[in-house]
Amino acid sequence: MAGRIPPEFIDALLARTDIVDLIHSRVPLRKAGKDYQACCPFHDERTPSFTVSREKQFYHCFGCGAHGTAIGFLMEYERLGFLDAVEDLARQAGMEVPSGGETGQAGPDLRPVYDLLEQVAILYRTQLKRHPSAPRAVEYLRGRGLTGEVAAAFGLGYAPPGWDFLLTSLGSDAEQRERLVQCGLLIEQEGKRYDRFRDRIIFPIRDRRGRVVGFGGRTLGEGKPKYLNSPETPVFHKGRELYGLFEALQAHKAPERLLVVEGYLDVIALAQLGVSYGVATLGTATTADHLQRLLRCTSELVFCFDGDRAGRAAAWKALETTLPLATGRQQIGFLFLPEGEDPDSLIRREGKDAFEQRVRKAAPLSEYLFDQLGSQVAMDSLDGRARLAELAKPLLERVPVGLFRDMLQGRLAAMVGVAPTRIAGGGPRPARPLAPARGSQPLTPLRLAIALLVQYPALGAHVATGSTDWRELERPGIGLLAELLDLIGAYPEITTAALIERWRGSESASHLARLADPALLRHIPEDGRAAELVGALERLGAERRDAEARRLFERSSPAQWTEEEKRRIRQEGLKPPD
Ligand SMILES: [Zn+2]
Repeated sequence: MAGRIPPEFIDALLARTDIVDLIHSRVPLRKAGKDYQACCPFHDERTPSFTVSREKQFYHCFGCGAHGTAIGFLMEYERLGFLDAVEDLARQAGMEVPSGGETGQAGPDLRPVYDLLEQVAILYRTQLKRHPSAPRAVEYLRGRGLTGEVAAAFGLGYAPPGWDFLLTSLGSDAEQRERLVQCGLLIEQEGKRYDRFRDRIIFPIRDRRGRVVGFGGRTLGEGKPKYLNSPETPVFHKGRELYGLFEALQAHKAPERLLVVEGYLDVIALAQLGVSYGVATLGTATTADHLQRLLRCTSELVFCFDGDRAGRAAAWKALETTLPLATGRQQIGFLFLPEGEDPDSLIRREGKDAFEQRVRKAAPLSEYLFDQLGSQVAMDSLDGRARLAELAKPLLERVPVGLFRDMLQGRLAAMVGVAPTRIAGGGPRPARPLAPARGSQPLTPLRLAIALLVQYPALGAHVATGSTDWRELERPGIGLLAELLDLIGAYPEITTAALIERWRGSESASHLARLADPALLRHIPEDGRAAELVGALERLGAERRDAEARRLFERSSPAQWTEEEKRRIRQEGLKPPD
């Protein structure tokens, strides 16, 4: 069963969430009969086999077998842990996760760490207003053109000079000091502890959910390095977090576009001037993790680079990281700024409209790719074009199989002047092994009953008053069937999704999930389901009676029968087996 969050809370959460809306905001769905369909986000395909059912609050892919509830979808798609997914949905539904769930996730409880980081962020923020040395920081920010308003929106702060500000403010008890070290805010060296951030402007780094996970600090004097970040900690991973993503998601629920820039101050300057969709990596190159996060939040991603050589090199690296994620579902663009400019300086000089004009004119990935490759060869010679094909082929093979890759290969073929079939190759490579063919083995009555109940829980009402003979059958799965019926009896409105969540983490979970596959019941018409369920339970009851008869007639003699057994034989009409 799921963690320590009460199952009733999960039921209520799933009841307030619509899986169709949830998925549609990330993977556009099309109505298909009663259900909704899209090309599967979990494997590469050209015809949609990913199906979402509003009635069941469940998704299922007939291609790769991926399936799950709203919680499961968030876990898989956003790569969230169970508790994070629950909290995400709860926030959207305006519900508070009961405190019992705090440690429902495996692993250490990180809540005290998040609390501490939040406290530190507040402390630094206050120092920017109060500390006697802070006016230099304020002056610097003003000199960069920042308003107090935008500084507050990004929670900017100030770490005072000296070595023990945090240590004396927050390190009163040993446990707290330990945590400050764990968060990288105190440095431990030769038995001594001192503050990492000293006399620096502080940029709190928030995760996608708005929790402070680390800090960036810019020096005010000559101190090196100019920018200092929190080290990797249990809650802070530079390769995953993006500065400004939380703020961008606050400004736009589903941003149409995200712009990847280099620095914290670029993000803030853009936001101040009305371009509130800038994000920055934290002193690292863009990773595949970053890209996955970004591409899931928006339909257009634009990378912004300096026009100098370093910028061009960084852009090519970003392109290489992007190729395996380029499905064509999102538009990916590359924008180069005039040399000597960064987004901060440019938008302040040109204004929002001119800047956005540039962003809109960013080179699409395909154009940037072929321009770059084309510039390396002599396109007017046959040998040059052959060389282009050789350079491009391995890159295109990194693009997921699909329409976009076909189009890139078509474009390359046209550029070099050969038939597209000469370029395509490398063969399709499905992202996951395809599910084994189904329908080869018929469902046993037990599996049929469980499949019907988990997919159509309302059917439980049809057998609520029926025979319960089958419950005594000794066979794996009977207990699960009994529990299912009992739960449905107690919660007649329960959905497939809520049932699946009840069993999350238990041994039966995968069994149940497999039986939630709609393909298993495709052959049963809607109005025949109740009769199938009643029939399945009757067959199980008959099996139980046969087993009982065998036991009584074959393994014991009438002289050994107890009164209870004799009553049973009469009542159930048990006969010696043939
Ligand atoms: Zn799939």
